[in-house]
Amino acid sequence: EPGLYIVATPIGNLGDITFRAVDVLKRCDLVACEDTRVAGKLLKHIGASKPLRRYDDHSAGRAREELVAAMRNGAVALISDAGTPLVSDPGYRLVVEAHNAGIAVVAVPGPCAAIAGLTVSGLPNDRFLFAGFLPTKDKARCDVLAELGPVPATLVFYDTGPRLTKSLAAIATTLPGRTVAVARELTKIHEECRRGDPFELVAHYEAHPPKGEIVLLVGPPLEAKVPAADAEALLVAALATQKT
Ligand code: SAM
Repeated sequence: EPGLYIVATPIGNLGDITFRAVDVLKRCDLVACEDTRVAGKLLKHIGASKPLRRYDDHSAGRAREELVAAMRNGAVALISDAGTPLVSDPGYRLVVEAHNAGIAVVAVPGPCAAIAGLTVSGLPNDRFLFAGFLPTKDKARCDVLAELGPVPATLVFYDTGPRLTKSLAAIATTLPGRTVAVARELTKIHEECRRGDPFELVAHYEAHPPKGEIVLLVGPPLEAKVPAADAEALLVAALATQKT
């Protein structure tokens, strides 16, 4: 079937590709990808061989036009180097143009580091806000944290080993009292999930510089606690109304 297929691929463990993703990648006419070498390896692993086109959202409009033209008569699969396309990865502008051209956009879901991290973090997951990578500059990073701080949801960020301690220190000072989780190397040999107070985690990762890929999660703000003196006054008032 012609159209644009958004195909999720593994985030480390090659066993995590779905049957349907394999099927779509084997049947499609063209694979649009972030990096042709990475895509080539994955296709080889599943025994497929397809024409590859490098794509990112900064590619010239022409590259997108060519892909949209290919979608009219054939199936184009979009993949990232790892995980779900468009989630801190290219594809957004391509999806918009496919919709504008009346072309079917089809989800072929699968691994996504943000969701995998959330599920192992032990932080509340009834509400979460995915915010991609934090800015690299100190001021901008603190501004983003201050902006997201009041949101009553678990915050989910992507991060890298070299930046992690700076991110944790910024969370410790900008959002004091929050529980933090670091989900590292998910689905890979050195997978770990470490939870706790951000100051303690800074100390840990300063002693053991983290390697690999990281999802950083910040628990929601605590429910406003009623100060003890007020609580007593409230209790007395409540009991008084009960008597009448
Ligand atoms: N689109 C991808 C997805 O759906 O997961 C994410 C792409 S983004 C450019 C790459 C970031 O995802 C990494 O810096 C890291 O924060 C996170 N990531 C990817 N694979 C991971 C893994 N196996 N464990 C932890 N985090 C991972």
